[in-house]
Amino acid sequence: MSYRVTLIPGDGTGPELVEAASRVLEATGVPLEWEVQEAGEGVIAREGTPLPERVLDSIRRNGVALKGPITTPVGTGFRSVNVALRQSLGLYANLRPARTIPGVRTRYEQVDLVIVRENMEDLYAGIEHEVIPDVACESIKVITRPASERIVRFAFEYARRNGRRKVTAVHKANIMKLTDGLFLKVAQEVAREYPDIAFEDRIVDNMCMQLVQKPELYDVLVLPNLYGDIVSDLASGLVGGLGVAPGANIGERWAVFEPVHGSAPKYAGQNVANPTATILSGALMLRHLGEVEAAERVERAVREVIGEGRYVTRDLKPAPDDPSAVGTREMAEAIAARVRS
Ligand code: NAD
Repeated sequence: MSYRVTLIPGDGTGPELVEAASRVLEATGVPLEWEVQEAGEGVIAREGTPLPERVLDSIRRNGVALKGPITTPVGTGFRSVNVALRQSLGLYANLRPARTIPGVRTRYEQVDLVIVRENMEDLYAGIEHEVIPDVACESIKVITRPASERIVRFAFEYARRNGRRKVTAVHKANIMKLTDGLFLKVAQEVAREYPDIAFEDRIVDNMCMQLVQKPELYDVLVLPNLYGDIVSDLASGLVGGLGVAPGANIGERWAVFEPVHGSAPKYAGQNVANPTATILSGALMLRHLGEVEAAERVERAVREVIGEGRYVTRDLKPAPDDPSAVGTREMAEAIAARVRS
């Protein structure tokens, strides 16, 4: 039996990154059958929308998708395809592991964090209006018990399945006593069901400072949408930036795996973008499919190739103009060869 996977090349550097990642995943020997679905800027003229229904149908049929970044057109009236995808498919959990990769230049050595961000509500519900045009506006922050319970439970289940020791709930309940207060209260309640996993909470501003000073003290973090967005980028920065940060959007029935970074249009088609984040997102997909051994092989191969520092893209070289840097394709081929060996 093979796994049918929706493959969304995306915009900008997306197509070359997704191509590179799919070669690495195929090298594991896990039988994967790709169903390519174009979405994003390139399809707007033809289909009138960057996210045609056929893309959603394909993911609903196959259960999983590997996705390249998609450009959010500015000023066209289309909402972000990425937000629309998450909302339409109920992908309530955004999972972003941030782990030190030896060989990637960073200020920190031993970071191993997993950020679990609520993906559906909070200020991202998009309920905004002008109270007095051009003078005062309001944006409504929505926090509910079911969504909070679901995301905190996801974080604890993830911790248990992956041998993690601690979950930290992040909030600002000292100021937003009702909304963040509810999130914290629900987190404390759910934590009681998992006596084998330690639990603590942190106020978000303090959390940011602690992560910068002593990230090694933290393990799995669970956050409402907006704090999750910000803190997960901070965590990516601790391990070397967006080029190496994978992500997953997971719901009850469907899941979409994609790098944290965007479509970096200025590098499109130049074979220079770092494929690591997309390849590691593919490894998260293999784990999700239950192909844990293959996922570990991919992750190990990435770490080895980066650690050796030879077949890596220019952003991973000590100087950006290093002539020994290789392209996206060549780096992925080196990783694929290591996966096969
Ligand atoms: P970006 O992540 O595309 O680029 C920011 C910088 O990060 C780049 O200039 C580059 O220096 C670096 N970078 C990004 N990807 C890299 C890679 N693979 N290898 C090496 N360096 C890399 O962010 P942006 O410029 O703010 O956004 C561009 C477009 O992407 C926007 O339209 C935005 O809406 C969209 N976007 C999409 C997603 C998504 O599809 N999930 C996420 C973020 C941004």
